[in-house]
Amino acid sequence: MKVLIVHAHPEPKSFTAALRDQAVATLEAQGHEVQVSDLYAMNWNPVASSNDFSSRENPEYLVYALEQRLGVKNQSLAADIQSELDKLLWADLLILNFPIFWFSAPAMLKGWIDRVLVSGVCYGGKRFYDQGGLSGKKALVSVTLGGREHMFGDGAIHGPLQDMLRPILRGTLSYVGFDVLEPFVAWHVPYISDEARQAFLEDYRLRLEHLGDEQPLEFPRLSQFDEQLYPLRQPAAADA
Ligand SMILES: Cc1cc2nc3c(=O)[nH]c(=O)nc-3n(C[C@H](O)[C@H](O)[C@H](O)COP(=O)(O)OP(=O)(O)OC[C@H]3O[C@@H](n4cnc5c(N)ncnc54)[C@H](O)[C@@H]3O)c2cc1C
Repeated sequence: MKVLIVHAHPEPKSFTAALRDQAVATLEAQGHEVQVSDLYAMNWNPVASSNDFSSRENPEYLVYALEQRLGVKNQSLAADIQSELDKLLWADLLILNFPIFWFSAPAMLKGWIDRVLVSGVCYGGKRFYDQGGLSGKKALVSVTLGGREHMFGDGAIHGPLQDMLRPILRGTLSYVGFDVLEPFVAWHVPYISDEARQAFLEDYRLRLEHLGDEQPLEFPRLSQFDEQLYPLRQPAAADA
């Protein structure tokens, strides 16, 4: 299997970086090929702008997604985007590895998503969810956070973690076609003992070794909707 790890943390010696290193070591030991995009180390530019295209369909008015489509066709995407897109298309498994910032991903990673998941390749027209351009690939989100586990869930102070990660799990990864696996979560990371952190690293190793056995999370399938994307009537029990 070919694996792309996109890592976003400003501190090279962070615990989040230790999770990245654990993933590289575990997956390579299993014979998988791994590439890492370390966004801070690459000084990745997260800002989507007109500079992302060496030529434009419409130089007067920027419609970013339309220019992405043309950029793919004409090979006029900026070199840093094209390079990341090539890695993404090469990979069978994408791992997004990051600390939670404000119930979300660091801006650096958000900007990777904005610029690299280009229209025309990853989605476009009615190519989304199970029909998305990256269908057939898997994705795993690996996160660290400050909160404790009991603060997340139904009725908990912050609500369910999957609701918090919805823009990434559903609105991004599932939308472009990935089979999205249950996130790996290291809770309360800065406040626990070294031993507890080592235990998270060990849990992650075991999880990665058996990733192939996992069922993806459930997300919509276009076959559940009509031409206008209204939900099709589910057969009532009496109809079945
Ligand atoms: C802008 C911002 C917004 C945030 N928003 C939220 C939020 O919405 N919700 C929330 O819950 N949290 C939030 N946080 C907290 C943040 O998610 C956590 O601080 C972060 O995930 C902790 O992971 P880290 O990799 O940064 O830990 P680090 O601080 O890098 O590491 C923690 C400790 O682990 C040690 N360590 C490093 N490597 C290893 C190793 N191999 N083995 C054992 N120990 C090791 C380090 O030396 C350090 O002592 C936010 C933080 C910021 C800065």
